[in-house]
Amino acid sequence: RAKQMGANQFRYYTEDMNASALRRIDMESRLRRAVENRDMQLFYQPVISLETNRVVGAEALLRWHDNEKWIGPDDFIPLAEETGLIIPLGKWVLEEATRQVRTWLDDGIDLRVAINLSARQFRDPQLGEHIVHALDRSGAPADRLRLEITESVVMDSAEEAARILGKLQSLGLEISIDDFGTGYSSLAYLRRFPIDQFKIDRSFIQELGRHNESEAIVIAIIRLARSLGLGTVAEGVETESQRDYLSRAGCDLVQGFFYSKPLPAEDFARWFADYSKDNNDKE
Ligand code: C2E
Ligand code: MG
Ligand code: MG
Ligand code: MG
Repeated sequence: RAKQMGANQFRYYTEDMNASALRRIDMESRLRRAVENRDMQLFYQPVISLETNRVVGAEALLRWHDNEKWIGPDDFIPLAEETGLIIPLGKWVLEEATRQVRTWLDDGIDLRVAINLSARQFRDPQLGEHIVHALDRSGAPADRLRLEITESVVMDSAEEAARILGKLQSLGLEISIDDFGTGYSSLAYLRRFPIDQFKIDRSFIQELGRHNESEAIVIAIIRLARSLGLGTVAEGVETESQRDYLSRAGCDLVQGFFYSKPLPAEDFARWFADYSKDNNDKE
């Protein structure tokens, strides 16, 4: 009987395995098709200067339109990384974001747009070419494009990363270290890295006012950035008191649901117009 149960368990186990392997294969082929058919869209979340209260930028965040619903990047970027689909997908993001920068500029909306790069994209020897090509084709100025890369991607073989970052910066782009504070940055390397900005991780921002340690970390990151001559941006700002705290702490820029969630480009332009109008009325 025990043997029989074992056999059953084995059968269920392999059926489970098969089911999840099939789901994965199915998702991979749907993702492949979506990349080919461009069933992808960039949403934009505003970035606001705490000094002027103006919108100075936007972060481009990828969504996949699949069967009438939106799938967020956390649910497909890892698979895109594993399968290499991230390379054509990332190229499309670059082209789409630079095109949007140009379109907004022509409409009088001057913003610095940030795009996210994953590990494999960052190590792609053709990244520089793709960026130059996207800038040329769109006519977007290089200094309106910002690249966000996480600490772990940068710290993993730091010498090579420093070289790549230097090359990207020499193209005129700004480099931001995303989710800063959650990885294991070597301060010695950080000092030598050609970077422009720390993006303080959402987890610290959301604990402001609740955990003294998070306040201490946020203050320390802002001080470190200052002394290295770098800017700071806080992500995931959801409340007025978080915003006020960051303002007192000397953080440069903020983004989060307190201002707006990520929006399709047309909605973003409408939001921008409303926000700018209200803001100018107050001046
Ligand atoms: P990230 O770069 O750290 O982006 C911030 C995430 O926080 C976004 O999630 C954004 O929608 C969310 N967020 C912004 N403000 C708030 C807030 O006030 N509260 C809360 N709870 N969340 C907020 P999203 O769009 O799901 O993106 C997740 C991650 O996927 C990104 O994290 C980024 O690492 C990656 N990603 C997004 N777009 C791309 C892309 O085009 N290429 C690559 N390689 N990765 C991407
Ligand atoms: Mg980011
Ligand atoms: Mg982040
Ligand atoms: Mg993140």
